[in-house]
Amino acid sequence: MDDIREHYLAWLRDAHAMEEQALTMMRGLLSRLENDPVLCSRMEQHVAETERQAESLRKLIEGRDSGASMMKDTLGKASALGQAQGGMFADDEIVKGLMASYTFEQMEVAAYKVIISTASVLEDTTAIAIFEQNLAEEQGMADWLLDHLDQTMRIFLARDEAGRPARR
Ligand code: MG
Ligand code: FE
Repeated sequence: MDDIREHYLAWLRDAHAMEEQALTMMRGLLSRLENDPVLCSRMEQHVAETERQAESLRKLIEGRDSGASMMKDTLGKASALGQAQGGMFADDEIVKGLMASYTFEQMEVAAYKVIISTASVLEDTTAIAIFEQNLAEEQGMADWLLDHLDQTMRIFLARDEAGRPARR
């Protein structure tokens, strides 16, 4: 059981780092989405959800991991990295960013499934309720991105065409 517990705590920290990375990625994309208010507002909603997810994971880790004082260092590094990645999108990088976002949501879904199984074996029922809510939010965002990909692409392509100098 000690081995399972060790994995569990490691996966909890990984999940927290994953949410911090999600925030960096979405904030970078959001700064480029001014032409697509529908996508922009859905992503702002998911940023708010993700901030809450990261906070709830942080509290879970603090309550379960005696080595949780390491958290502060990890958080500092994540936000420093985030600043460097802020302006990385150019041209079709928005489209690549969207594909990466969808993939990221699916990875989050799998990560919460893994952690829910582990928490079930350890009978950590309080934590399971939180993971289930996070899982539902990831699934909701993944579904939304896929359902709106055509609309998103049409807006991107129309904008791209309008923004180009006329060709001979
Ligand atoms: Mg998330
Ligand atoms: Fe997410």
